Amino acid sequence: MDSGILEKALKMLEKRPLCDHCLGRQFALLGHGVENDARGKAIKLALTLEAHALALSKTEEGIKALKILATNGFFETAKEILHKMKRRVPEKNLLKTCFLCENKFETTDDLAKRALKQLEDYEYNNFLVGVELPLFIEEREDEFRAEFGVGYAESMRTEFGRILGKKIALYSEKAVEHKKPEVVVLVDPFTNKIGLQVNPLFISGRYKKLARGIPQSKWFCSNCRGKGCEKCNWTGKMYQESVEEIIGKLFLDATGGAKTSFHASGREDIDARMLGKGRPFVIEISKPKKRFLDLKKLENDVNAYARGKVEVSNLKFSNKDAVRKLKKAESTQKEYRVIVEFENEITKEDMQLLEDKLTNSIIKQKTPTRVLHRRADLTREKYIYDVKVKVLSPKKVEMKIRCQGGLYVKELVTGDDGRTTPSVSELLKNRAKPIKLDVLNVVIKD
Ligand SMILES: [Zn+2]
Ligand SMILES: [Zn+2]
Repeated sequence: MDSGILEKALKMLEKRPLCDHCLGRQFALLGHGVENDARGKAIKLALTLEAHALALSKTEEGIKALKILATNGFFETAKEILHKMKRRVPEKNLLKTCFLCENKFETTDDLAKRALKQLEDYEYNNFLVGVELPLFIEEREDEFRAEFGVGYAESMRTEFGRILGKKIALYSEKAVEHKKPEVVVLVDPFTNKIGLQVNPLFISGRYKKLARGIPQSKWFCSNCRGKGCEKCNWTGKMYQESVEEIIGKLFLDATGGAKTSFHASGREDIDARMLGKGRPFVIEISKPKKRFLDLKKLENDVNAYARGKVEVSNLKFSNKDAVRKLKKAESTQKEYRVIVEFENEITKEDMQLLEDKLTNSIIKQKTPTRVLHRRADLTREKYIYDVKVKVLSPKKVEMKIRCQGGLYVKELVTGDDGRTTPSVSELLKNRAKPIKLDVLNVVIKD
């Protein structure tokens, strides 16, 4: 036995009982396209052939090796050779318990089938197996490797993960996905526990808000913070519905998910409509049971349910990265329409002045007084690309404003006591207030 690998393998078996998987795993990085159990079996067979040859030349060394293979190696061929040579087969280790895995690799088929049973409740295209091992199991293998100076091994966790992944893929006809799996099957082969981590489903689209007085997201009662009190009529909410809740309800119905999170590129005021092509959003559905959705049908369902209030379009399957992009896209362009009422009558020259002074201008805005209680007091500079003004009556105009996202349009009109400058009030020296505000467009660069 002068080959390094075989010599080392026999020393391991002499010391500890090892199944094919656990012996093969110590040499996992040698040879490709072979599973560890096949590798372990091949090593045991090679050892048996050498031992048989030695035994036939009447060497006790060969008999000793055959006995190790028959006991600690659980190797039937070695046992048969000993029988035929009328040698006693030692009784020890006939329980055949592997020192490293305690024979848990024999349970992988059962584990895979039980995992499949749990997966039946969910729709998914791909999955990943995550393996949990008791600490003492990992420590035992670490010590074992240190003792024998093993340099070509892989971890037991990796092997369990791969084997279970292959089996579940075979039975479910779904693919193993390492980067962004839809479902993670969590398995502990030593406690026999199986759990599922169902990753969220992301759907992107655009929404229009056709009615005023609806907040974008659920707005908790400021008095009870959601618990329910007299002030909010025991609903816990300031507003009975929101864009998030109206859209979310139908997405939950369609997916059987646990809850939704709503992400949008900015928000319009409660009293402003959101028109034009709509505002980009991504809805995140936790623990969806169904993923294979007919998005066109879902779109129609949402729009029928939310008629007159909210409308969605352009629904697409999306991902977490899209949420990140959406949040970063604050500096995109927005287009607003605002109806402005003045204290005093206005002239044609006033209109011209507004268009000239505000088009291609920079507006300096301190955080508006009305949001100061929840936002830091900062000065922001926002760019206005274009302003068009139309007279509606002696004291009323319609302004269309295309600007950088994040501009507070109401304050652009009023001036917010000098906190926004220049402003419509300031430029015309005529107190102006916004009557109606609509968002006409949100432009996002991909
Ligand atoms: Zn084992
Ligand atoms: Zn309340």
